[in-house]
Amino acid sequence: MTTQSEQDHRPVIVQKYGGSSLADPEMIHKVASRIIAKSEEGVDVVVVVSAMGDSTDELHALSKAVTKGATPDPREMDTLLSTGELVTSTLMAMALKARGHDAVSLSGPQAGIKTDAVHGSARIADIKTDRLRRELDKGRIVIVAGFQGLAESGDITTLGRGASDTTAVALAVATKAERCEIYTDVEGIYTTDPRLTDKARKLAEIGFQEMLEMAVLGAKMNPRSIELGLVYDMPIYVASSFSNETGTLIHGGEHTMEVRKVVTGIAVDRNVGKITVRGVIDRPGIAAGLLQPLADAGVSVDVIVQNTSSDGTTDFTFTTALASVEKAAEVIESDSTVEYAEVVTGSNLAKVSVVGTGMENAPGYAAKMFSTLSEVDVNIDMITTSEIRITTIIERDQVQKAVQALHDAFELEKTE
Ligand code: ASP
Ligand code: MG
Repeated sequence: MTTQSEQDHRPVIVQKYGGSSLADPEMIHKVASRIIAKSEEGVDVVVVVSAMGDSTDELHALSKAVTKGATPDPREMDTLLSTGELVTSTLMAMALKARGHDAVSLSGPQAGIKTDAVHGSARIADIKTDRLRRELDKGRIVIVAGFQGLAESGDITTLGRGASDTTAVALAVATKAERCEIYTDVEGIYTTDPRLTDKARKLAEIGFQEMLEMAVLGAKMNPRSIELGLVYDMPIYVASSFSNETGTLIHGGEHTMEVRKVVTGIAVDRNVGKITVRGVIDRPGIAAGLLQPLADAGVSVDVIVQNTSSDGTTDFTFTTALASVEKAAEVIESDSTVEYAEVVTGSNLAKVSVVGTGMENAPGYAAKMFSTLSEVDVNIDMITTSEIRITTIIERDQVQKAVQALHDAFELEKTE
């Protein structure tokens, strides 16, 4: 038996528009024009929208005001937050209808998005596309409220801040779309943060793995949506919602040519905190003894460095998100069973990484990165690498100088 969704139908395109592109009625109409243009290409269009402008922040602020600062009930909070995206999805459907195009808005639950029950950061478990498919088959443009779904309990959940991207990629996968298009307030993915060097270049394409490193390390994209794209091999096109400039295609195929660049980009994360536990008595179990309490307290640890000891004691250093530094120090001071002399925190650091799949099996790139940094007098505090990334921790006020030097050294302004 074939279900309706398995029958032949027009190609599906999923488009997602961010909140900064939908901040007022005029902008909603501008986006509506883009949606209409796409649907006139003869494809089925599913649109995912975020909440208008800063309205999600405003809903957070309202809840805080009402609870007088106490943590709001998570179920009520999720239902409240889900309303932001309902505003834009319904207004967009109205705008399209007002211009003579058949459209329908669907909330996350109406669009069949099933999640687990973790309020505030729910994960999508399954998408039942029957309703969506029926609407498309009626020739309608379907507007789905991003960032929300339905738990088995029947309660509304939200997927975490910035997760409308995740909704969009998941819907693209579920509807077997040709690709997922993310329209936002930037023109695409750049070799590095354009605010750091005017030589930053927009990339025509980037691999999922590379994008994942760039996203986690600072480039503006929700990493969960990239992970979904990677796992299901769903190409994601990122472009501006304000212009018609070509954006960046994030994809899983080979780069167009074997002569691809070895280094694709430089990622920056300014929010790095450092903890050094000095004079740790070196015996089996110290790493676990220090890190387990942090994991239990929900503090994520990133770069870890531990020296071998010569006198039976060692320094154990790791980084966390800047916002977690104080908490991390407190957890170690109160919960760790390890013997040590003192805990020292640092909050003036940043992470600069050179990213590129071409670096796999190509020696010499780490050396080039370090010598470039030394030539401009940037001191490297910590180093860590993966197959496609070399990461250094440096002082935050050295970031611009470091990025400019690395961008030049790896010739990232050139396309070949
Ligand atoms: N409106 C939600 C947020 O601001 C989801 C999103 O924008 O993707 O986090
Ligand atoms: Mg938003």
